[in-house]
Amino acid sequence: MKNIAENTLKEAHSLIQKNTNIVIIPHHNPDGDALGASFGLQHFLKKLHKNVKVIVPNDYPEFLHWLPGSHEAIIWFHQQKTAKNLLNQAELIIYLDFNDLNRVEEMKETLEKLNVSKLMIDHHPYPKNIANCIISNTITSSTSELITSFIMSFGLENYIDKNIATCLLTGIITDTGSFSYNSSQPETYQALSALLKTGIDKDKIYDNVYNNYSFDRMKLMGYALNQRMVHLPKYNTAYIYLTKDDLKNYNFRAGDSESFVNLPLSIKNIVFAVFFMEKDDKIKISFRSKFNFPANKIANEYFSGGGHLNAAGGHCNLSMQETITKFESLLPNFKNELNNVKA
Ligand code: 5GP
Ligand code: MN
Repeated sequence: MKNIAENTLKEAHSLIQKNTNIVIIPHHNPDGDALGASFGLQHFLKKLHKNVKVIVPNDYPEFLHWLPGSHEAIIWFHQQKTAKNLLNQAELIIYLDFNDLNRVEEMKETLEKLNVSKLMIDHHPYPKNIANCIISNTITSSTSELITSFIMSFGLENYIDKNIATCLLTGIITDTGSFSYNSSQPETYQALSALLKTGIDKDKIYDNVYNNYSFDRMKLMGYALNQRMVHLPKYNTAYIYLTKDDLKNYNFRAGDSESFVNLPLSIKNIVFAVFFMEKDDKIKISFRSKFNFPANKIANEYFSGGGHLNAAGGHCNLSMQETITKFESLLPNFKNELNNVKA
C-alpha cells in the first residue's frame, strides 16, 4: 500500500489473521464512503471465515440502504444492548473513515473503555492515536480505496466479488463526487480497475446512488437555491441555510440535503461554499472549498469541527441568525486568501 510502512501493514495483517470476532465501526452520520468501506470489508472478512459485524452509530440515509449487507448492520442508537454485547465479545475493532473518537459521538465512552485490539483505516488529515495499528493516508481518495488496496495487499484480489466491489465502488464514487475531486492519483484507478474486473455494473451503481431521491427532496433543493442562497461576491463565497421549518415544509428525511453544499461551487468564481442546517439544538455546518482555500481551518478554528482541505464540517450552538452573523464576520479576515486561491 502506498505510503504505508511495511511494519504497519504486517501488523494489520496479523491482527486480521489472529482474531475471529471482529466489529467494524464507521463514523456518526455515515456517508457512502464510511458505509461502503465498512460493508465491503465485512464481505471480505466473511470470506476469511471471520465472525464480523458492522455497528453504525446512528441511522443513515435511505439512498444507501440498497448497499449489500446494509440490512445486517446494528444501529447503536436503536440497538445499544446488542451492540454492547457484540463489542464485549470482540477481539478486534476496526475504525473506518474517521480518526478521532469524537466522530462516533455517543459510542465514544464505551469504545474508550474497551481494552481490545483496535485497527484504524482512514484518509482524513490530522489522525489521532486512537488505535493500536493505524493505516492512514490523507491523499487517498477514500477509505474504500484504502480497503481495496488493503485487500490487494493480502494478495487476495481474487476474493473481491461483486458484493465487495459494489460497496467499495460506491465509497469511491461518493467521496470523489464521481471522480470530480480527490481523484487525481493513479492508484485510485488501479483500485477501480480491480473492482470493475468483477463485472459489476458501474452505471447501475451510479443510478442507485444519485437517481434515487424523493420528489420532496427535489423541491427542497429548488427552494434552497431560490430562497435560501446568499452570494457574497466580494469574498468569492456563497452559502445556503435551511431552518427547521423549511425542513418540515418539505418532509425532510435523512440524506435529503446531501450535496446541497456543493451547489454554490458551480457559480463562477466561487471558491468557498457553506451549508447551514438547523438540527435539534444546534446548527450543523458543511464547508466546501476549491484549490488551496482551507475549509478545514475555518471548521476547526471557529466551528468545533474539522475535515479535509476542501471538505469539512462543524457545528455552532448559536441560533441560525447568530451563526450566520458569526460566519460573515469572519470573512474579512480571509478576504486576501479568498481572492487569491491557487490551484
Ligand atoms: P459533511 O459536510 O459531508 O458533513 O462533512 C464533510 C467532511 O468534513 C467529512 O468527510 C469529515 O471529514 C468532515 N467533518 C464533518 N463534520 C465534522 C466534525 O464535526 N468534526 C470533524 N473533525 N470533521 C468533520
Ligand atoms: Mn471518506
